[in-house]
Amino acid sequence: RAKRRGRAQITIYSEQIALEMRRRTQIEQALRNAIIADEVDVHFQPIVDLTGDRLVGFEALARWHDADLGTISPSDFVPLAEDHGFIDRLTEVLFRKALRAALAWPKDIFLSFNLSSAQFVDLSIASTVVNICRQTGFDPRRLIIEITETAVMADADTAQEIVAEMRAAGIHVALDDFGTGQSSLCRLRDFAFDKVKIDRSFVSRIANDHASEQIVKAIIAMCVGLNLEVVAEGIETPAEAMKLKALGCHMGQGYFYGRPKDVASTLKDLNGPFARGDTKA
Ligand code: C2E
Ligand code: MG
Ligand code: MG
Ligand code: MG
Repeated sequence: RAKRRGRAQITIYSEQIALEMRRRTQIEQALRNAIIADEVDVHFQPIVDLTGDRLVGFEALARWHDADLGTISPSDFVPLAEDHGFIDRLTEVLFRKALRAALAWPKDIFLSFNLSSAQFVDLSIASTVVNICRQTGFDPRRLIIEITETAVMADADTAQEIVAEMRAAGIHVALDDFGTGQSSLCRLRDFAFDKVKIDRSFVSRIANDHASEQIVKAIIAMCVGLNLEVVAEGIETPAEAMKLKALGCHMGQGYFYGRPKDVASTLKDLNGPFARGDTKA
């Protein structure tokens, strides 16, 4: 009986795997079509200066809603585009949209944009980014490129050269999701970053968990010593904001300050009280 049940289990599993694979293929096909039909969007989440509670920039975040499949998270569709070789096309579409939107913002508001790890293996990405800035008329000095530790680890030499080339063009480079990958510290030593973004997993526990608080405190101290700006991601409560300020964190981002919003709402906010320094904390 146990054996028969085992076989039945296996059948169920393989059916589930087949279903899951079919869904992935569906999503992949739909995503290809969505890129062609220009249906993948960017939203923008505010980044604030914690010392003065002032809006300083926005992070562009990819958004995709499919009529049949529903809303799909970038954490799901970005890897899919990487695996199937169309991350470059997806990124270019998103980047152009983000730059176009940001052109309408005040000149002192920066744009932060995520590049995928799959794009940090080819030197040409640096000139591609610079060229698109030039074509769009967006000042590269207002641009921050966010990359994760995973990206930096895949091919460290090439990644290092890409970072150097971007910085030579005036672009700032931020290490995203800091603390979640491996070998974080040697990356900070070997790479010339401008900013470090502390991962939400630390920030969301900072108010109640002594260990998380001490780790964040140490990261901030280290970054200050290395002349790096620190951004805390995923600030959701006043308590978290207060603690991060007390620890000397430079910048913050999270639902407490604002959720990602579409192009039009972002522009509207920029003309409202929020932009004049009336952030919540
Ligand atoms: P990320 O770059 O670390 O972006 C921050 C993520 O945290 C975003 O999720 C944002 O919506 C979310 N977040 C911000 N504040 C809060 C908060 O207070 N609470 C919570 N629970 N979440 C918060 P999102 O938009 O789902 O994006 C997930 C990841 O997908 C991003 O992580 C990034 O790695 C990737 N991604 C998004 N857009 C792009 C893109 O245009 N290109 C590439 N290559 N990757 C992207
Ligand atoms: Mg990011
Ligand atoms: Mg992040
Ligand atoms: Mg993250």
